[in-house]
Amino acid sequence: MDSVLSPLDLIAREAPDGPVAIARPHRVTAAATWFRENFPGEVFYAVKANPSPWVLDALWAAGIKNFDVASDNEAALIHGRFPGAQIAFMHPVKSRRAIARAFHDFGVKTFALDSEDELEKILAETNGAKDLTLVVRFAVSGDGAAYPLARKFGVTAEEAPALLRRVRQASEEMLGVSFHVGSQCMRPDAYRSAMDGVNRAIVKAGVVVDIVDIGGGFPAIYPGMSPPPMIEYVNAIKAGFEEMFVAQNAKLWAEPGRALVAEAGSTVTRVELRKGDALYLNDGAFGTLFDATHLNWAFPAKLLRQEPSRAKLAPFRLYGPTCDSMDAAAGPFMLPADIREGDLIEIGSLGAYGTAMGTRFNGFGETVTIASSDAPWPTMYAEPAAVVALPKLKRAPKKQPTQA
Ligand SMILES: *Cc1c(COP(=O)(O)O)cnc(C)c1O
Repeated sequence: MDSVLSPLDLIAREAPDGPVAIARPHRVTAAATWFRENFPGEVFYAVKANPSPWVLDALWAAGIKNFDVASDNEAALIHGRFPGAQIAFMHPVKSRRAIARAFHDFGVKTFALDSEDELEKILAETNGAKDLTLVVRFAVSGDGAAYPLARKFGVTAEEAPALLRRVRQASEEMLGVSFHVGSQCMRPDAYRSAMDGVNRAIVKAGVVVDIVDIGGGFPAIYPGMSPPPMIEYVNAIKAGFEEMFVAQNAKLWAEPGRALVAEAGSTVTRVELRKGDALYLNDGAFGTLFDATHLNWAFPAKLLRQEPSRAKLAPFRLYGPTCDSMDAAAGPFMLPADIREGDLIEIGSLGAYGTAMGTRFNGFGETVTIASSDAPWPTMYAEPAAVVALPKLKRAPKKQPTQA
């Protein structure tokens, strides 16, 4: 192998003034390969987690040919890059123009919905196409997830049977069911209970279902959140699937976002000023640190210095560059006590919902991306012996993940 430049060497060479996103495509490859080898169905990548070209190309090269999009612009991105991709439009509420564009311009045949009104929109905008795959999205409990997604979308258990029958009549091709157990799901059995709930509605409706799409929610490793091994999720889903009354040849789909990309990205940010335990950085809530600030999630952090610091670790708070007072992360982030202005901090596990969430608020947010072939962070995709334990951090009481 040729010499591997560390992020610090790469940054020294490029000397960007703003934050630097570190891209590790080989970690995307590892995650995608794991899913392809272990998930007993088709894997649709949830593009919103990270639509960067280097992510999409690494997934495609690793054999992920299906994509879950939430907008016609995401459909355009995927169709333009991979004309042969299978695209599923899984947002349950779409504009009429987005439906029409996805169907007529990008060949999208798969649409999610959670109401009869949305069904009518889809049928009208596709001119009553007969070859649609229509997927009914269920509301399920988000109890197992650090970031529940159940409140906004999904048909309730009471309304589901009528909607399933109506969609079955409308769909000459495939009828699917889907749900999302919430992002960063810490409990494998959340999938099985969701599948059980959906199954009851299927039985009540008396319809034949061709696709069971168990959504996203597969977890990544963050300080204070060490999920069970990924294979336990697959086992719970297999068990749930076997118990469902669906077509003999029914297909199983998944839509992982976070789990495929979280490990593959980090951000290197610079300390512009230190005030006691508060570090003022050149990245924050409106850049790649949305979840660290808005959700108060802990992220792994480490000081990057040519001469490693010998100081003890101490807890720090972080402030982003904008004038908004929400641009703050309580952490605590454990960093060497002698940290000072000009130091670079690498914040890990930011491949999902990191750069994807960035804005240009206040004139900040310009991020340079640098590829690196190192692998310094803990992984869900290694033999247990190779997993590096993260230090246990005290988490602020605000948003505690619900753990089994
Ligand atoms: C966000 C989303 C996903 C991906 O969720 P992760 O928690 O990142 O795996 C999958 N499907 C739908 C419909 C989503 O909205």
